[in-house]
Amino acid sequence: MVHAFGRQALRSLVVNYPQQHAAPYEGRSETCKRNLEPLIHVPVHYGMFKPPHALICSLVLLGALFEGPARASSPLQRNTIDTLARRYGFGAPLNLGAERALRSNYSTVVFTAGSRKLRFNDTLIWLNGPTATGSRDWTVTRRDADTILDPLLRPSATVGGDDITTIVLDPGHGGADSGAVGHRRIYEKKAVLDIALRVRDILKAQGITVRMTRDRDYFVPLSKRTSLAKQWGADLFVSIHLNASSNTSVTGIETYVCSSAGFASTMGGRADPRAYSGNHFDKKNTLLGYYLHRGMLKQVKATDRGIKHARFEVLRSAPCPAVLLECGFISNKYEAARVISRTHRESLARGIVGGIMSYIAKTQTGP
Ligand SMILES: [Zn+2]
Repeated sequence: MVHAFGRQALRSLVVNYPQQHAAPYEGRSETCKRNLEPLIHVPVHYGMFKPPHALICSLVLLGALFEGPARASSPLQRNTIDTLARRYGFGAPLNLGAERALRSNYSTVVFTAGSRKLRFNDTLIWLNGPTATGSRDWTVTRRDADTILDPLLRPSATVGGDDITTIVLDPGHGGADSGAVGHRRIYEKKAVLDIALRVRDILKAQGITVRMTRDRDYFVPLSKRTSLAKQWGADLFVSIHLNASSNTSVTGIETYVCSSAGFASTMGGRADPRAYSGNHFDKKNTLLGYYLHRGMLKQVKATDRGIKHARFEVLRSAPCPAVLLECGFISNKYEAARVISRTHRESLARGIVGGIMSYIAKTQTGP
């Protein structure tokens, strides 16, 4: 289907804002995310920013203080990798020096010593806590075993029988909130809307009900995005963003799911013991993140920056399994040029749809 962004793609993606309202991307890292995460987890270097929407962010943050989330219990108990190998029918772990691997005919899981990095079938996933090597047997937190490894190794048992009828797409930012401003002054808010509209059209053509938190260029508060999803009875929530960094050489795709209670986000900060509504779906979030991340990387050649954890407002307050996709760095010359291409945006959309369909397929195979 023809979209608003065609041959005049670059012109369409660029907004001629007055200079004083357009944050230059140089020297300002992670612009896309600065409006998305609660204060408790914002790394120190974010403090130098003066976000134009600080007031709105503050109100959202204050709202979180009154949610009264429940405390989680014992997130730090640990399972040995040997125990996990036996539980899921792998042979003995392979000792590869700084890595240990579990291999079967269907899956490969590679743990890295002292690191949160995990590779599952060659896709990078960040654990909530690092793999420990202090004893003879390496261990991972029970929370990671239960909410990351188990759904990946038993997807049908995790989502089998779920009825997925309504998918909510959430193009990031909008209106006065431009999101990241990238190379050649590409505006994130415009590019992600185009990608989301393409996802919507492909899904609708397959008979799936799709709702959008915005379908034009206007501002929607973060809390409104998930309250709309709840009102619409969303079965899946997919927030679509583009990334930016002060280091313009950084490239790649990353996918975020809600951090588990008791752990810090992948970006650091303090551990938060609270469980939010988004944490009800920890296992399903992992699976949705995995399929969407893999779906994008199947369609476009990009650095795999992994499936990460953060307490972005739209993830922690989601009423259903939810992910936030960072589909590339528009602060990078090469990736910005790709985003300007309609073909690339269409490929990203097809990757996202492919991921959603992979998830839905697992719901239909029975627990
Ligand atoms: Zn963003």
